[in-house]
Amino acid sequence: SRQEGVSGTRTTCPYCGVGCGVLVASDVKGNVTVTGDPDHPANRGRLCVKGTALGETLATDGRLLAPRINGAEAGWDAALDLIATRLSQAVAMHGPDSVALYVSGQLLTEDYYVANKLMKGFIGSANIDTNSRLCMASSVAGHRRAFGTDTVPGQYEDLDLADLVVLVGSNLAWCHPVLHQRLMAAKAARGTKIVVIDPRRTATCEGADLHLALAPGADAHLFNMLLSHLADNGHLNTAFLQNVQGLEAALATARISDVTDTGLSPAVLDQFLTLWAGTEKVVTVYSQGINQSDSGTDKVNAILNCHLATGRIGCPGMGPFSVTGQPNAMGGREVGGLANMLACHLELENPDHRAAVQGFWACPTMADRPGLKAVDMFRAAEDGRIRALWILHTNPAVSMPDADRVARAIAGCDFVVVSDAFALTDTARLADVLLPATAWGEKDGTVTNSERMISRQRAFLPAPGQARPDWWQLAQVARRMGFSGFEWASPAEIFAEHAALSGVAGTLGSDFDISGLRGADYEELAPVVWPQAAQKGGRFFGNGRFHTPDERGRMVPVTARLPAKVTQAHPFRLNTGRIRDQWHTMTRTGMAPRLSQHLGEPYLEIHPADAARVGLAPATLAELTSPQGRAILRVMISDAVAPGQPFAPMHWTGETAPSGRVDALVAPVTDPVSGQPASKSTPVAIRPF
Ligand code: SF4
Repeated sequence: SRQEGVSGTRTTCPYCGVGCGVLVASDVKGNVTVTGDPDHPANRGRLCVKGTALGETLATDGRLLAPRINGAEAGWDAALDLIATRLSQAVAMHGPDSVALYVSGQLLTEDYYVANKLMKGFIGSANIDTNSRLCMASSVAGHRRAFGTDTVPGQYEDLDLADLVVLVGSNLAWCHPVLHQRLMAAKAARGTKIVVIDPRRTATCEGADLHLALAPGADAHLFNMLLSHLADNGHLNTAFLQNVQGLEAALATARISDVTDTGLSPAVLDQFLTLWAGTEKVVTVYSQGINQSDSGTDKVNAILNCHLATGRIGCPGMGPFSVTGQPNAMGGREVGGLANMLACHLELENPDHRAAVQGFWACPTMADRPGLKAVDMFRAAEDGRIRALWILHTNPAVSMPDADRVARAIAGCDFVVVSDAFALTDTARLADVLLPATAWGEKDGTVTNSERMISRQRAFLPAPGQARPDWWQLAQVARRMGFSGFEWASPAEIFAEHAALSGVAGTLGSDFDISGLRGADYEELAPVVWPQAAQKGGRFFGNGRFHTPDERGRMVPVTARLPAKVTQAHPFRLNTGRIRDQWHTMTRTGMAPRLSQHLGEPYLEIHPADAARVGLAPATLAELTSPQGRAILRVMISDAVAPGQPFAPMHWTGETAPSGRVDALVAPVTDPVSGQPASKSTPVAIRPF
């Protein structure tokens, strides 16, 4: 078996943004075991059930083993030549913006770097976006507005050192379990207070001191009220505020927020405000419940405002903390693999930044304006503005909002390439050309976790069939399009180039400068948090210096607004999210039987009063409809959700449960600043099936 002889490989879990280090070993029969790496600083030996089950997900069943053109097996040369020809033709006939890449937070940094270089520097369009747009784009936009750059200020260690940890829109116990374990250990050791702010009573509430069952979407109202409370009760840090602009405007807008919009009782609200205001070491952790909103960027800034106003940022045990969903969303941000970024935290709109990157890449052209963000990108595929679309390592026909429409757009696009490890995903079925990609355990590279820690992912298995890494596929196509600068022999060489470019970025003032790693031993590279030159122990902004032109932070006036009201025809507000034991569209976690024992089929969690009103009994089937689509889900009656606010997980696909594709229901409503879809607030109708 290809698993024989695997021993002692030190690598990183491929699932969530915690970025746990793992040790992989096999016995003489080739049974692979995966354990937590005690020496990895992100997890110190801990793993969650998904990480522990990784050894059961290595079979090659369902893998795509050879390139295919229109469903028929083809050689690599034929497939790559065809892609190069079609991309070149699209550029020649319809311009660079007729081509798009849609990539993934599952890509390794080296893959991401090559995709971004090809698209922005050589094809000459910024039409490269990523499924990270669905995950944390609002955090990126909020960081840039407040700090001048997309920089996460703190580190995981802050969870150990805080006296109060506030979890907003984050079911940390299920979605980032090892961070939750770490937080619970800190609570046991030093009595850390934990507050959960979430319309649902999630598993995370079990370990919390206080749960605020906030009205859906009222997060900015709550943090605006906190800002007013801080100002009115003498909690502003006037010394730190010398380094921050915008207090008066932010405060004036904050004072307009209406307490009744939060749905919280005055007593609970007061308890929260008093606790936050009275605790110096406070970390506010936020995730998709904040980001996946049509006012997600404003919500992020409402949180950041409170930390800026109190100077509780970038110091041990205090700060705002965006935890990312995917294993390498952060690496994608670092290489600039989003439609509105350049590279190494440089700005697409800045001519000096563009010139520096163009000079470094020696590229013939350079995108000079933002490209299409995810939702708009598939609209452009639908209406013919995009003629050639290359999708790598993601399954938008399932995971995008309005997923049926996205699937039709992909099917109708002139030329679609899909690079994937698996042959039968909902998106792979729609491809003109399918390229077999290596998967976790077979590919080499680096990832960056939520605390800016760069870790190696290492191969320990041979690639099955003709599978090849994504960076190699992209570089081969680039070379066949006549571009030079894509001649790397290994991911180590790409990493060295990325690190060198970051040094150029550093001379332009970018915070992302990892040029010190340029000559590092890539094979032996130990986990490292950037910046390497420690600022307050690897944290940012505690010194009161931000990455804005005047080095001052920015408080942003936030007009809090609630999501659109539900309608008579669609009277329920559907919330979507993850479950504990599955990952994304289950291509890997679906292979480990034990991971299906927890929650094994698509379901609808609905309040008893709602179930009684529409006539749903436990374990029966419910039909959900929205203006976008339809789904049929198993009924789970529970008062963990509030009346009118049912919840459904998003993992199932056309392959695993054709009627359980929840994103077919979700409206393609986006945040106007970040372009991130509002995946937690879709009006739906529900009835017995
Ligand atoms: Fe993997 Fe995340 Fe679990 Fe760690 S917490 S083992 S990174 S899924």
